[in-house]
Amino acid sequence: MNTIYLATGNDHKAAEFDAIFAASGLPCAVRSARELGGMPEVDENAGTFSGNALIKAHALRALAPADALVLADDSGLCVDALGGAPGVISARYAGVGAGTAANNAKLLAALEGVPPGKRTARFVCVLALLDGAGKETLFEGVCEGRIIGGLTGTGGFGYDPMFIPEGYERTFAELPGAVKNALSHRGQAAAFLLRWLGDLR
Ligand code: IMP
Repeated sequence: MNTIYLATGNDHKAAEFDAIFAASGLPCAVRSARELGGMPEVDENAGTFSGNALIKAHALRALAPADALVLADDSGLCVDALGGAPGVISARYAGVGAGTAANNAKLLAALEGVPPGKRTARFVCVLALLDGAGKETLFEGVCEGRIIGGLTGTGGFGYDPMFIPEGYERTFAELPGAVKNALSHRGQAAAFLLRWLGDLR
């Protein structure tokens, strides 16, 4: 049985990982960074999803038991009409500490007047897995979609109420969690990770 510590202080991400691992049937015990005293403060300054995921993973690796794996997620929303913004600064698009409501309002304002056909976007997720020796393995998932003109739905987190995944007519915040996890950037990156973990057994 692998024990995996999640290098995140984001309870929404942790809940999605819990559900994804539980549905996989893999014998993995998913543990929170809280059990190690909390996710250490890090400067996410790498400028890439993979670089930031590795920064977070190594910060928790230092606190985790040597026989456990450590997993970090760096993710964000890349909007074509905004040249890929907010991208790696998705969590702090409206400023450090500004929060989800301010981020969402800023993004909707930035896209005001952009016609429906030009509102394409994608969620990106890079997972960084470290073994006990600190060996790095990366997994990436991408979910294509579009940004609507307002907020719809109460599920999920972050930019979910404005993002409709390709092939659907409802936002991530309206779709059931299991549907989001099956399609999402995080779900796809996790599927690669689960396959990798399965091959280890
Ligand atoms: P990170 O914690 O630096 O990886 O920042 C991730 C940020 O990207 C979150 O705070 C959200 O703003 C956004 N994000 C990432 N994944 C999702 C998702 O699944 N739904 C909605 N927003 C997301």
